[in-house]
Amino acid sequence: MTGAVDLSVCNTLGLHASAEHLVVIEKESQLFDLLAAGDLTKRPFQVLGGGSNVVLRPHLPGTVVLMRTRGIRWERGARGFINVTAAAGEPWHDLVRYTLGQGWSGLENLALIPGSVGAAPMQNIGAYGVELADRLVSLRALDLDDGSIRVFDRDACGFGYRDSRFRAHDADRFIVIEITLGLSEKPRPMVGYPDLRDELQMMGCGEPSAVQIAEAVIRVRRRKLPDPRFQGNAGSFFKNPVLPTAQAEQLSQRHPHLSLRESGHGMVKLSAAQLIDRCGWKGKQNGRAGVWQRQPLVLINLGGATAAEVLHLADAIRHDVASRYGVDLEIEPRILGQD
Ligand SMILES: Cc1cc2nc3c(=O)[nH]c(=O)nc-3n(C[C@H](O)[C@H](O)[C@H](O)COP(=O)(O)OP(=O)(O)OC[C@H]3O[C@@H](n4cnc5c(N)ncnc54)[C@H](O)[C@@H]3O)c2cc1C
Repeated sequence: MTGAVDLSVCNTLGLHASAEHLVVIEKESQLFDLLAAGDLTKRPFQVLGGGSNVVLRPHLPGTVVLMRTRGIRWERGARGFINVTAAAGEPWHDLVRYTLGQGWSGLENLALIPGSVGAAPMQNIGAYGVELADRLVSLRALDLDDGSIRVFDRDACGFGYRDSRFRAHDADRFIVIEITLGLSEKPRPMVGYPDLRDELQMMGCGEPSAVQIAEAVIRVRRRKLPDPRFQGNAGSFFKNPVLPTAQAEQLSQRHPHLSLRESGHGMVKLSAAQLIDRCGWKGKQNGRAGVWQRQPLVLINLGGATAAEVLHLADAIRHDVASRYGVDLEIEPRILGQD
């Protein structure tokens, strides 16, 4: 599609933005047609899945590629393991539901995360104690540098906390075509996360099934997070800061109320939500952008907000947290386009 194309419905923050060109990919072969026509090597271009982890400025120059490929296949592996392969354009939660419906466990803690399968490796999606990296076997991607198809196993993806090579040094180089996950026919419940444990207790589930865990996750998420269909948002707007243990301990001496969580390799994770809350931002507004009352990590579009308003609010929060706690908050969504 050429000519300015409205992307308001293609991002969950509901920001007004337009793309110079838009290409909707429904079949893998279309990617190769675009490549042959030279359209994918012309930069700038942007890939979008569900638009649930982006802040779109008003103009996206070049081509926006909207991934809408579908398809799920699976094969049985050794010792009750199932390898499930899903196309990039599959909605993530549909994949979770499909696997639960088959009686497989592994994705239940990641239920109800918006967006597409192809974007999941970008920031190594995670929730309630499980990350994509815990389940990913491999992914297949198109390398825009030379037009080759590359297969990455988990170790080659450079996964970290809300991070991967595809978001870092290889940003915008690969289009993820499909991912393969290792799931299990045997339950392997991960229910250590306090909110999840409490919810399961309230549901009266002593030894919960994967379906019950997903149900508990969905209940907690619905309570805490705004539904983007009714209230524009991009989920957590900031990553939880991860500090060296010594620095975190000094901070905790000055601010004993802060919760710290071991995150391995001599690092400690702080709660960004707690830092923002302590600075008094819950429910505050900047123009038509606001901070979600029930979860201050989430910035919302109160109706007609611009990217500038959202980013201005984010800057004010970052500034406040930095001056009070000396901690830098990193913005989680990708900021795309120009004013
Ligand atoms: C209410 C809400 C709750 C959320 N909860 C969580 C949560 O619990 N945990 C979590 O980790 N995230 C969460 N998110 C963030 C978001 O849902 C995830 O990051 C999701 O994976 C983004 O998918 P998407 O298809 O919408 O990506 P988009 O927003 O479309 O794109 C995000 C980035 O990925 C790139 N990209 C997209 N598809 C591809 C592809 N096929 N190949 C290459 N690059 C691609 C884009 O260029 C962009 O840089 C939440 C968001 C919302 C709105």
